[in-house]
Amino acid sequence: MNDDKRTRTLHRAFEQYIAGSRMRSTPERLAILDAVSRQKGRFGTRELTEALASLNFKVSRATLYNTLSMLQEAGIVARRPSVDGTGDTAAMWEVAEERNRVGFTLVCTVCGRRRAARDPSLGRQLLSRRFATFMTTGVEVCISGLCSRCRKKQTI
Ligand SMILES: [Zn+2]
Repeated sequence: MNDDKRTRTLHRAFEQYIAGSRMRSTPERLAILDAVSRQKGRFGTRELTEALASLNFKVSRATLYNTLSMLQEAGIVARRPSVDGTGDTAAMWEVAEERNRVGFTLVCTVCGRRRAARDPSLGRQLLSRRFATFMTTGVEVCISGLCSRCRKKQTI
């Protein structure tokens, strides 16, 4: 995958996640996403800070860590155990492969509110399903129901 395509793919995944959550897209978060899309293999906050500097962007450590955990929640990056032999225990990340991506979205049938949800064990189960003449590479599940607000209105 070339860099442009990769950046577009990551941005699309991020937009989908934002649409399904209560999070906001901010210039800082988008810059971190760009820095992430430039990484090859495993990376840590040092590599990201350098990439951000080359984009003329400076973000706080807290913003960097918060955004990384958000990107992890979105399935865009995966946290990897540090394999640094120097005893450095700094956290490392890696861009998660498109393959094996699992997304769950809860959709309210009354107000249309959407939010992202997670169910790693169900996700793994669905990914392991085999279908004739079809290779499963990802799972997108839409679960319909009532959000807490609409449910409250209904019971009154
Ligand atoms: Zn609702």
